Order: sequence, then C-alpha cells, then structure tokens
Amino acid sequence: MQCIKDLTLEEITNYVVELGYEKFRARQIWYAIYSQRINDFEKISTLPKELRLRLKKDFYINAIVDCKKEQSIDGTVKFLFLLRNGSAVESVYIPWDRGLKERKTLCVSSQVGCALGCSFCATGKLGLKRNLSAGEIIDQIFECEKLLGIKLTNIVFMGMGEPLQNYKNVVNALKILTDEEIKLFSRKNITVSTSGIVPKIYELANLERPVKLAVSLHSTFDVLREKLMPIAKRWSLKELRDAVVFYYRKTKIPITYEYILFEGLNDNQDELRRLVKFARTVPSKVNLIPFHRIDFVKLNDFERQLNPANKEKIEEFRNMLRSEGIRCFVRSSSGYEINGACGQLAFANIKLNI
Ligand code: SF4
Repeated sequence: MQCIKDLTLEEITNYVVELGYEKFRARQIWYAIYSQRINDFEKISTLPKELRLRLKKDFYINAIVDCKKEQSIDGTVKFLFLLRNGSAVESVYIPWDRGLKERKTLCVSSQVGCALGCSFCATGKLGLKRNLSAGEIIDQIFECEKLLGIKLTNIVFMGMGEPLQNYKNVVNALKILTDEEIKLFSRKNITVSTSGIVPKIYELANLERPVKLAVSLHSTFDVLREKLMPIAKRWSLKELRDAVVFYYRKTKIPITYEYILFEGLNDNQDELRRLVKFARTVPSKVNLIPFHRIDFVKLNDFERQLNPANKEKIEEFRNMLRSEGIRCFVRSSSGYEINGACGQLAFANIKLNI
C-alpha cells in the first residue's frame, strides 16, 4: 500500500483512467484530500462507492501514525512524528508575532537523518536513514495544523536532512503545496534551504512555481567551509555563487544566506569583507544564526572546539553588514531549551528504533 499523497495529480489521473473512470474523478480526490482534508476514502461522498472501496484497498491517506510534542516557553513546539514503517522525524513550529505582522512557520524535515555530516549539526550525526516521501513531508504540515488548531503561514525546509538530496520527493511536495487550485501556500512563503548541492540548485530554478532559496554559507573561504560542511569539498564557493546567480536570474527571487557565527573562526574582518562581496552578487539577505551547542551527541576534536560568538559580536557583525548596505537579520534561538533550534534535531532523549 502507498500513501495517496505521494502521487502527483497526473499519477492519480492515470490511476482513475486505468480503472475506467473519467479524469475529473482525480480532481475530486485531490480536492477532498487537500482542500477538505478528508482522511477516510469512504467519506469522499462525491465519488462512486466502488471507487472509494478500490482507493481504500490500494492507498492510505495519512503518512503519520502518531506524534509526541514538546513546547518551549517561547511558544516553539517540537513535534516528533512517527511514520508508518516505524521511523520518525522531527518538525518545529515557530510562532513570530510583532503586532500587525504575524508568522506561523513550520520547519519541516525532508529526510530521516542526513548523510552530509556538517560539524555543527546533530542531525548529521545520525547518518542518512532514508528519504521522506512527498506524503510524509506534506503530513508534517497537516498534522501540525490539526494538532495546534492553526493555519500555518510559512514553510521552511530546514529540518532534518538536505532537501536537495531528496530532490524528486521534495519537488513533488512543493508542487502540491503551491498547486494553484488548492492554494495551500503562496510560493513566496516557502523556503528550501540547502548546504549547496550545486547541480540541484540549477534544476530547482526551473520549477514552474519556484520558491525561495536559502544557502548555508558559514564561511567565505573554501578551506574553512569544507571543515564545517564536508559537502563543500564537492563544489567550490565559486561554483556555488554561479548557481546562485543562475537561480536569481531565472526566478527573480532574492537569495537568503545562512551564516552561523563561531567565536574566533568566521567572525573576523576578512570574512566580513568577503561576505559583503558575496552577498552583493545578486539581491540577497544574510541571516546570522547563533550557534547552538550539540553536546548531547558524540563530537570530534574540531567539533568540540566550536563555540558560539557572543551576542555583542553577532550584533556588531550585523551592524557592519547593514552599514555596507546588506540586508541582515539575526535569527532567534527559538526552541533552544527543548533541543528544537537550528542544528539540534536528533531525537535527543528519545529512544527510537530507526
Ligand atoms: S545542517 Fe543540514 S545538510 Fe548539514 S548535516 Fe545538518 S541536516 Fe544535513
């Protein structure tokens, strides 16, 4: 059996046509699942009874079977979603409220674990267990909305895994999320974050409804970047910059650079000058991210020496970037005390058989 949310509309259409039904039945299924959020085929009253029974035999609707959640004092909620085959993923809900401006963001996972082993990230310590299907990605969003009784405004692919290493399923999920008829999310409110999988950045630029791209930079020197993110050995900063330029030219969407500030490592004037130059290549903004300790996983010597830059240093860096005309923001440490902040997702304190 397969999750019906893993199928594109075209695949559902082929399925119903092969069974001898008219094409419009696929749209009825699509509407029932995504707009009405019906989670029992028998309740899709627009369909003939035999088709409902056949769907029930061939597919299931919900990819997530159970959930545990932990709430932080700042309102952040970390979800542990249990999947059908016994594996699990974490997602983090981050509310943001500044009077008239309010955002309800879910940070979704695209893989169980991650193969890339960035030195500042607990998820990388798990290794890659498997890719998530499109349905497992979509259902993190649906479950969060159901459990909290809210409508999310923003989706960021910044949870467990490297989204561009699960390209096909992530793109299928993006097509569903931005579908023009069911209108789940505006493509402007979806961000895919990558450690810099260069060939896939070119491919992503060609999506019919492209989304925002965030790139983890963390250093403007290849040597240091390779130490922080081993995947950087595959593609140099120059190759990454060329891909980013292509993405911007094709989509006209400004790029976001993520930059974790480590004390005494990448918080110096040389980095700053080069970061200004890099960020000016195409319209962009820089998010400075406080480093969140991951002492709860096993670390090597280099990783043990990573320290967060202090608050004053982060503000100084931000002010200097702004004085150079670079849009720059300091990301909050939402969910830090429940190990739900950036880089901390690794099933801490939870025994799982994944
Ligand atoms: S930061 Fe992202 S790409 Fe790097 S190990 Fe963690 S999940 Fe993987």
